Amino acid sequence: MAAQHEPYRIVPFKEGYLADIWTTAKSIFYGFSNTMSHLFRAPSTVQYPEVDVKATLPDRYRGFLTVDMDVCISCRNCEKACPIDCIWIEDEKLDRVDIIGNNGKPSKKMLYPTVFNIDLGKCMYCGLCTEPCPTGAIHFTKEFERATTDFHNLYFEFVSPEERADVLAKSAKFKAKEAEAKAKKAAAAAAAAAKPAEGAAAPAEPPKS
Ligand code: SF4
Ligand code: SF4
Repeated sequence: MAAQHEPYRIVPFKEGYLADIWTTAKSIFYGFSNTMSHLFRAPSTVQYPEVDVKATLPDRYRGFLTVDMDVCISCRNCEKACPIDCIWIEDEKLDRVDIIGNNGKPSKKMLYPTVFNIDLGKCMYCGLCTEPCPTGAIHFTKEFERATTDFHNLYFEFVSPEERADVLAKSAKFKAKEAEAKAKKAAAAAAAAAKPAEGAAAPAEPPKS
């Protein structure tokens, strides 16, 4: 059986070759007109880093993360929020008077980080750690000039070894004090429990037959 051919059809201008040519010409014209208009505008580029000129960064720019340890309360919200475990925190319980804040008064903090590390080599700058921070301690800076080829340079420790040793020593004292108070409380409770037994009336003698 002979093959059947589509009947010849006149293609309307709107969807034919001529329309395609017209659309292409129009888009080339629009593209070049936009490019050409830049010949008459002031340049928007900055000569960085050849010349020390920096672009104005937006307020919410996400540069390197930093932590203000003076206001961190070690709640660990940031650590829990990070989807790729970039943040590592360890802390110790301290007496309130053991930490003196920036204002020279005892800090109200009970927990103090002995380790607060951020691996910015893994960080994807999602900002999820900054959202739940109740004190605004963890936040992005506008700094971006610490680019490196060595990932080890992107591992930041916000508690120095001296601060860690200091907190651990204070914490040991705090724990000893707590243990002493607990022992005293237990001794007092035992003494109180023994007292009514001593003061109780003597058991009645059995009736004589
Ligand atoms: S910005 Fe995102 S990936 Fe980076 S430390 Fe914070 S939560 Fe983790
Ligand atoms: S969420 Fe804020 S206050 Fe809590 S541990 Fe992280 S940086 Fe510190």
